[in-house]
Amino acid sequence: MPEVPQTKFTFCRICEASCGLEVDVTDDRIVDIRPDKAHEATEGYACIKGLHQHQMYDSPDRLEYPMKRTGTRWDRISWEQAMSEIGQKVGRLAADDPDSIAMYVGTAAGFSVLHPIFAQGFMQGIGSRSMYASATQDCANKFAMATQVYGFPFTQPFVDLENTECLILVGTNPAVSKWTFLQVPNPGKRLKEIRARGGHVFIVDPRRTESAKVAGEHVFVRPNTDIFFYLAFLRELIEIGGVDESHVRQYMSGFDELRAVVQPWTAERAAEVTKIPADVLRRMVRAYHQADGACLASGTGIGQGTEGTLCVWLQEAINAVSGNLDRKGGSLVGEGVFDFAKFGVRTGMFVKKNYSRVGEFESVNDALPGGLLADEILTPGERQVRALFVTGGNPLLTMANAGRLRDAFAKLELLVTLDIYRNETGALAHYVLPATSPMQRPDLPFAFPLFLGMQTRPYIAATEAVVPPTGEQRDEASIYVDLCRASGIPMFGSRIAQRSLEMAMAFHSRRHPDQLPALPQRGLLSMLLRITGQGGFDALAREPQGRLRPAGQGGDFLGKRVVTADGLVHLAPERFLAAAERLEGKWRAEREAKPTFRLISKRDHKTHNSWTHNIESFITEGFQTNYLHMHPQDAAQVGIAEGALADVISPVATVRVPVRIIEDLMPGSVALPHGWGHQHADGLGVASRTTGVNVNLLAADGPERIERLSGMAHLTGIDVEIRPAAGALDPTSWSGLPAESPVNPAPQDRTA
Ligand code: SF4
Repeated sequence: MPEVPQTKFTFCRICEASCGLEVDVTDDRIVDIRPDKAHEATEGYACIKGLHQHQMYDSPDRLEYPMKRTGTRWDRISWEQAMSEIGQKVGRLAADDPDSIAMYVGTAAGFSVLHPIFAQGFMQGIGSRSMYASATQDCANKFAMATQVYGFPFTQPFVDLENTECLILVGTNPAVSKWTFLQVPNPGKRLKEIRARGGHVFIVDPRRTESAKVAGEHVFVRPNTDIFFYLAFLRELIEIGGVDESHVRQYMSGFDELRAVVQPWTAERAAEVTKIPADVLRRMVRAYHQADGACLASGTGIGQGTEGTLCVWLQEAINAVSGNLDRKGGSLVGEGVFDFAKFGVRTGMFVKKNYSRVGEFESVNDALPGGLLADEILTPGERQVRALFVTGGNPLLTMANAGRLRDAFAKLELLVTLDIYRNETGALAHYVLPATSPMQRPDLPFAFPLFLGMQTRPYIAATEAVVPPTGEQRDEASIYVDLCRASGIPMFGSRIAQRSLEMAMAFHSRRHPDQLPALPQRGLLSMLLRITGQGGFDALAREPQGRLRPAGQGGDFLGKRVVTADGLVHLAPERFLAAAERLEGKWRAEREAKPTFRLISKRDHKTHNSWTHNIESFITEGFQTNYLHMHPQDAAQVGIAEGALADVISPVATVRVPVRIIEDLMPGSVALPHGWGHQHADGLGVASRTTGVNVNLLAADGPERIERLSGMAHLTGIDVEIRPAAGALDPTSWSGLPAESPVNPAPQDRTA
């Protein structure tokens, strides 16, 4: 007889909302997930992805054993063999040139506390500076801004959602994507609450988004022109006396230089390229100025443009000079369980200077731009990347110019992935190592709330593992300790640390002889909690609905927690001023350019980047592919009907995709959801049958094509040509492609 389901409480680790979940478990399998109504902060909210995630983890495609590829054949091998063979290669390469070993840390790693710490420790042990992370696909612009303006990359002010009277969102759609750099459950409801209490919500976006439909006044903006919106916004604010001068004098530096930058940018000049009428912009500025607490906030829609860092610089400057930074209803700077910014500056963590070999890009958060990775692999010489560890990520789907990157990965001497699946990147790997899923490990919520207090309702929580690993799955932290041992290198560069961790693992194994060697994860998390004064793991785990922490009300950041050398907010960093000098030329080029279609990306409500396409129940009628969304006027002009195939042509590649006609787009803008294009992932049985295309094939990589200030890839607002599909697409250098799919004959891209 099957067991009666046992209900366990945990939290979701797919996105920053970290929703509380109630999980039914039978025979060590999750059979149902419901939102946890009693959770202190998330109050019974969870989205479709969180509620179906067990189908992603409980799939026949889950990796259960280490696998080795020989040619096109995959063989199960033992952990001993995997460690020994990988360790020998790492040891040899590390002795020759430590920087030849690179690591790519994906978004999934960020939703575990121990995983990224030990991945970083492994690279420290090797002595390699070749760290890459998914941040240069979605948020490095914010880190680069904060390093210059506030002195620490993780100082990221967020809107005081509970109290704001005016919220202006640019290039972000929290109703679908959830919030970014802020833990907000049920964002659509929160936006409605602002309106219900008489506040204003403006959504500036080339598409009338779901967020605009639920709660906002929508304002169209031509993609990739947002920088002129911000310039004109600040100029108008200064014009109407919207600067809190005594505040600026007391807490900030560089206001005169900042004012000089925005001086030429009238609302009328900006309107010529943004297409936001001057009177609409002025109305927004007035609403912002008159509100008792207002905030500008943004997301990947601007970050993935060509001026993402300058945009967030001006956004922060506007919030700061208007007196809205660090005040009720404006933007707040959270406090985690300890002062992370002070700790970072004292230890040099995340603020060390490192430069890429190709293009001399400065690292952001100790990571180099992913848009250079292909060049770093393909360019011979010292520091050439010859081995790559991919941990919790899928760069072959999520990075720019994925076709070129794939060719580069094929030339690596060693490619190892740590993942729950053999995804597109894993398909090319020499070894894939099976990791535990979030539901199979004890954990604390995402590091942002824990260390930085980026929460609308601050709390901490701990979760036990909900189900045990199956087969020979292991947590990543334990794998990295073992990799260090096998490679003859010390974790964190410390022989004492390595020895202690090995002893801890041996001790844990003696107590749990039925399990594979593993670190005592609960003990490590407990240590972390005790160091930060939060008591132990066990006590916190006995409060499954979370333990509330005091909420910030503002007034605790300026003059107190700003960690620049002089303690002031730097409104005019030299690098930003220099970069702003070319904006006049950009504006002219934009104004004089021949009209083109501009491609923006889009998230489907059932997907999280490339993660959820292997959930069978999600791949339903109408959801087996992504669609190119076009305005009816544009579709008529090109001669494409609903459902017909279009070729989307960028300077880098061409993809072929069916068209969906929608009124919600600004004419001249086309939208293609990201995260699709799994036909190359032979380890994803469901996803590989979908026929969507990878929008990132269309984006360019390399030192000339990524943003200089942050290394961000230009993944949205790309100029493209759209044509009715005709003829066969050009062949590419990709090898091992599956048979042609009905919608997207493979290969789908064309190398320029
Ligand atoms: S909103 Fe995010 S955290 Fe909440 S259930 Fe959905 S994916 Fe999970």
